[in-house]
Amino acid sequence: MAIRHGIDLDRARALHARETEDFLARHPRSLALAERAGGHLLFGVPLHWMDDWPTPRSLFLAEARDAKLTDVDGHVYADFCLGDTGAMFGHSPVPVAEAIARESARGLTAMLPGEDALWVAEELSRRFGLPVWQFALSASDANRFAIRWARAVTGRDRILVFNGCYHGTVDDVFVDLAGGEAVPRASLLGQVYDLTDHSRVVEFNDLAALEEALADGSVACVLAEPAMTNIGMVLPDPGYWEQAQAIIRRHGSLLLLDETHTISCGPGGYAAAHGLRPDMLVLGKPLAGGLPAAAYGFSAELAARAQQAKRAAPPGHSGIGTTLSANRLACAAMRANLAEVMTEGNYRIMFERAGRLAQGLRELFARFALPWCVTLLGARCEFQFTARPPLNGSEAEAGQDEELERCVHLYLLNRGLLITPFHNMLLFSPHTSEADGQRLLEALSAWLEGAVA
Ligand code: PMP
Repeated sequence: MAIRHGIDLDRARALHARETEDFLARHPRSLALAERAGGHLLFGVPLHWMDDWPTPRSLFLAEARDAKLTDVDGHVYADFCLGDTGAMFGHSPVPVAEAIARESARGLTAMLPGEDALWVAEELSRRFGLPVWQFALSASDANRFAIRWARAVTGRDRILVFNGCYHGTVDDVFVDLAGGEAVPRASLLGQVYDLTDHSRVVEFNDLAALEEALADGSVACVLAEPAMTNIGMVLPDPGYWEQAQAIIRRHGSLLLLDETHTISCGPGGYAAAHGLRPDMLVLGKPLAGGLPAAAYGFSAELAARAQQAKRAAPPGHSGIGTTLSANRLACAAMRANLAEVMTEGNYRIMFERAGRLAQGLRELFARFALPWCVTLLGARCEFQFTARPPLNGSEAEAGQDEELERCVHLYLLNRGLLITPFHNMLLFSPHTSEADGQRLLEALSAWLEGAVA
């Protein structure tokens, strides 16, 4: 009998085969669309990783509202993925949908500022403690632009990231640690220059490694999620950021926090909730309620240095461009979202329910004596196939098991429960009910009954 992470693989695989049959039998319309899509969409999907869900063929969506999705075959799902954070406050929040409907006939994009952009920047300053802001279309872009400013301002060429990080499609960050050495991430397609020339990588929660990597004064910025969320969740050790910030400052590097996911920690993200003082901060995904929009903020000192760097540069393209950024519609959506949706009250509901689910998961895994752990980050909860929470990216990666994940995820999906692919992440929107959480626990319990060793 082969056992992995407390699971009997033969039982799990037999169960998975039945779930696969069940999915194929119950999704004729999705199957027909998947068949058609094979001809004109790469991998049969509009974006290649949409092919990575655990379903045997693509699941096609009909519509989404609040915390529920309906597929083209009419099956309804409680959505714990929520667009991997893009829809963290529910699908089409009413104030955002109304603002979009109202503003959409009054000009979509014009390369000119409107009052909404100013209102949003003022509100972001209030929440995040950084006084000056710029906008972008996606968090990937915002990270890319922020890195560019950091390099321009410091005159340094390197950046530093943490092993196992993900910050969107920013090439610079795709470096991994292999046997203690930085190597370009093998899975990154089409990369032709050596990313390790300008990017360094150390383990999260390792202060000595951080100190050593910054010591020669060539690192412009440390780009980090304040808690890692993309290789499974890794929380900072108590006191880690306090010391890490001091090290970063001592070596004249900047701290660029990517709060795209950790905005699950509260209206001012992880930094405001835990008293971190970044030089720059990136927001994306849910900022405009799911409409593409992102923003990045600067400390007053950095903003002055950035403006000085730009003025001192020869005239011509600044290299940042992106004519659609801060477009009218996105600004109206961000304003509505910040004013009426991303509120303290909504966060409170999300925290309470996510906290109860995390507790339920812990009890469940204890009941089955499984070496699995549960980590909670505000409205975001993750279970990992490792007995104690991982301390860094390498440990988190060791606890990943794609085959088991697919088995669990498909079983849940067939019971109307959608969780984030690639890892076991569960998000709570203000519309995700206690009953949804309870149903998830019951379905997971039933899967464990059938698969546990
Ligand atoms: N930063 C982090 C931490 C992310 O998790 C992601 C996407 N998962 C991004 C940036 C990129 O966001 P986008 O896909 O909107 O560019």
